[in-house]
Amino acid sequence: MIMNDYINIPIPKQKRIALIAHDNKKQDLVNWVKENVDVLRKHFLCGTGTTARLIAEEVELPVRAYNSGPLGGDLQIGSRIVEGAIDMVIFFWDPLEAQPHDPDVKALLRIAAVYDIPLANNRATADFLLASTLMDGEYNRRIINYNKKIQDRLTELKEK
Ligand code: PGA
Repeated sequence: MIMNDYINIPIPKQKRIALIAHDNKKQDLVNWVKENVDVLRKHFLCGTGTTARLIAEEVELPVRAYNSGPLGGDLQIGSRIVEGAIDMVIFFWDPLEAQPHDPDVKALLRIAAVYDIPLANNRATADFLLASTLMDGEYNRRIINYNKKIQDRLTELKEK
């Protein structure tokens, strides 16, 4: 069977958006969510533990909370991306302070790139994302066809 190198995965009209902010950026993210509440309430929101609870309390939006970031929340969000259950990430990370879970943050950013996930890492990018006409419809992400990749590797290994 001939398989394509890439496959398309749809981002639905109603998007599953993960919200994450490091401590020095949490208030910025809460303010951004407040400013964009009318758009954001059309989508499904989730986030790392503290960020999600803060937004849920201050903006009165339902936000599904994963674990707190330092306790694995970023990795949970990364694994949900792998499973195809998160379509977009808004991540206000702090460029001026090292975090105990920097390796997890790096893992999340990497996996979001692998899965062609739109990811805003600051306010301006988040504004551009939300203003995009693509927010109102479906979009096909293009990701590497891992079934093919695994198949190719197996064939290669067997030939050795
Ligand atoms: P928090 O995690 O929302 O639980 O603070 C965010 C992070 O530090 O990655």
